[in-house]
Amino acid sequence: MNTDTLSFPKIEIDQIVSSSNLGGSQFINYMISHISNLIFVADRNNRLVYVNDAVIKKYQYTKEELLNMSISDIDIHFDISALDDAYWQEFAHKKVVQIHSIHRAKDWSLYPVLINSHYLEYEGHAYNFGIVEDQSYIQQLINTQEDFVVLTDGTKLVMANSKMLNFFGYKDFITFISEHKCICEFFLEEDGYIHNEPTWVAQVASSRHANAKVKIQNPRTNEEHVFLVRASAFENYRFVVTFTDITYEEKYKTTLEHLAITDAMTQLFNRGYFNKIMPREINRAKRNKSQIAFIMLDVDFFKLYNDTYGHQNGDEVLVSVASTIQKYFNRASDFCFRLGGEEFGIICAVDSIDDVYQQTEELRIAIEDLHIEHEQNSASNYVTVSIGISICGGLGSLETLYSETDAELYRAKGSGRNTVSMALKVV
Ligand code: GH3
Ligand code: MG
Ligand code: MG
Repeated sequence: MNTDTLSFPKIEIDQIVSSSNLGGSQFINYMISHISNLIFVADRNNRLVYVNDAVIKKYQYTKEELLNMSISDIDIHFDISALDDAYWQEFAHKKVVQIHSIHRAKDWSLYPVLINSHYLEYEGHAYNFGIVEDQSYIQQLINTQEDFVVLTDGTKLVMANSKMLNFFGYKDFITFISEHKCICEFFLEEDGYIHNEPTWVAQVASSRHANAKVKIQNPRTNEEHVFLVRASAFENYRFVVTFTDITYEEKYKTTLEHLAITDAMTQLFNRGYFNKIMPREINRAKRNKSQIAFIMLDVDFFKLYNDTYGHQNGDEVLVSVASTIQKYFNRASDFCFRLGGEEFGIICAVDSIDDVYQQTEELRIAIEDLHIEHEQNSASNYVTVSIGISICGGLGSLETLYSETDAELYRAKGSGRNTVSMALKVV
């Protein structure tokens, strides 16, 4: 509907409003009354000054009742404070605005509506001429969906399907929005998920967030759910947003990913993940002109430990050593691996080479200080490790770095075990 067609009732607005002097415009008045669209005219104070027969029929009020009402008595989203002078100025300039809202009839039934609100001026008075389309059919449509479907501008909901209302434990939409303006109030602020900020809907709609997810805690069960969110623009900055519950898939995926990269016994990363991460970290060092350290640890005389204390106790030693490694290298940029058998690896960022050496030395001492008896260890009374370190500046490959570090480890073994040996040159 464009503004031109509406200059037609505009001419007759005085007759409609005063309804005393219909004269030649009786035909026009008759037509407007009988048109199946809902037509409201409100004055600048938002009082209804005209409604057609369709409104009376649908909303079940008498004409007299309606003409004593304000738009806010019918429109549950109507915000009088927002319709200040500035609004009317802009309205006068724009001439027509589209609004999605919800209308409530006398029997409290609700109708999602699209309002084409036209600015009319007559004898110095401004009017709001609204042609209202009942969009209940969209409600019916979204109620058939398995996903949550909502219609929103990002801050307030205009429609929500029964699937969503059931999830939150509401039997009708009106109760939901009297307590919550938007589903976004339930978004948990967590990294990797869409947050409750005014731009969330636009973020979801933009292609950058093709994999937009939100986390929502069900207020009834306290369970956290993950939803895949899609949004598509729908009539003037409103969006149809669907939320697909992928909680199960996410949990399953996370478990599988975790299993694939984790050593079951020690819970450190496994060799496979090392092979994947190491080249990536070498490239990163090269790109950023930074350095990383590769540290290899091997338990001393572990074969003798097994022979003396049994394989079962040997396994427990590996778990204790692993958790000590993890405790000493626990920054987000540190990676700790069980490379195989009784061999462990650490990749860490280098701020200062001395600090890396110092930190590794502390780890070596901490492992000895676990005081796990190992009477066959010639280097100590307890379980100890030998450690080799290489510093990587992104020059070599995984293989060169590995063999450099292994050579340092060998050197540590050769010099009596329970020691740290660090390569001087950066590879
Ligand atoms: P070195 O000080 O030279 O490293 O002597 P070592 O005995 O530790 O070295 P070696 O490589 O000869 O023996 C490693 C032993 O580690 C052999 C193997 O039985 C044991 N081992 C490897 N994986 C496991 C494991 O998962 N559990 C246990 N309990 N032992 C393991
Ligand atoms: Mg070994
Ligand atoms: Mg060993």
